[in-house]
Amino acid sequence: MFSSLKGKSVLVTGGSKGIGKGIARVFANSGCKVLITSRHEDGAKACADELAKAGATAAGFAADVTNFKSMQKAADFAVRTHGGLDVLCANAGIFPQVKIEEMSEETWDQTVDTNLKGTFLSVKACLPALKKSGQGRVILTSSITGPVTGFPGWTHYGATKAGQLGFMRTACIELAKYGITVNAVMPGNIITEGLVGLGPDYERTMAASIPLKRLGTVEDIGYAALYFATKEAGYVTGQTIIIDGGQILPESLEAINQA
Ligand code: NAP
Repeated sequence: MFSSLKGKSVLVTGGSKGIGKGIARVFANSGCKVLITSRHEDGAKACADELAKAGATAAGFAADVTNFKSMQKAADFAVRTHGGLDVLCANAGIFPQVKIEEMSEETWDQTVDTNLKGTFLSVKACLPALKKSGQGRVILTSSITGPVTGFPGWTHYGATKAGQLGFMRTACIELAKYGITVNAVMPGNIITEGLVGLGPDYERTMAASIPLKRLGTVEDIGYAALYFATKEAGYVTGQTIIIDGGQILPESLEAINQA
């Protein structure tokens, strides 16, 4: 039995939809006070209202992870509203799919700024408050794409997701003296609002290559993030957990078909 996380203050970047919303919901259901941030205030607040209606303590705030001052304001808001900050889920990310030959420098830069620099700026902005917590937790949303697998159109994205893990492996050493752990979840294919829009055929095709024969849910990722936040995971730092239904394991399609 894990100790309760009730009353912990959690900030989830990119929490207005998709995986971030799932992470926020799982932490809220565990009794945490959750601050949801995204660039658009209406989305962040709507998501917080949904959680509050279900009985949680939640707030929404507009903050752009590519802007340090904006992230400082979000961290300050969490401290003012929820009495401190214990957990940062650095989750915001974008994944425009463009092959190298067609990719502009702007698309490359925007993806790196959001996914990689955004991770650094989120951690840096939240650091003063996480230090005060005494048992701060940083949980990054990386991906299997980049660190483990590849997919056409995602050279820039894969580079940022692998880059987050490089960041993590030194950040966890630097921040250990403050009692802060830094870990990462690595989702496979997860059902989000965007993916549902692609239709059931797309979902079926993707699921066929996964040993567990289904795509992941946002809660599947939320529960893995929740583990890293527990008191019992206090000795785990600089580590990753893949949540992909076994997707990266088959050597070939034949390995799936023969099972
Ligand atoms: P999503 O549904 O598109 O949601 C992205 C979230 O990030 C939104 O809340 C968006 O809100 C926010 N966001 C985007 N740019 C931002 C910025 N500059 N500053 C602050 N917030 C920003 O994406 P998702 O699929 O849930 O992905 C979330 C994370 O999971 C990403 O890091 C992604 O790499 C990772 N991931 C996803 C999958 C998957 O299958 N979906 C698989 C592996 C990894 P605004 O637009 O309002 O800012």
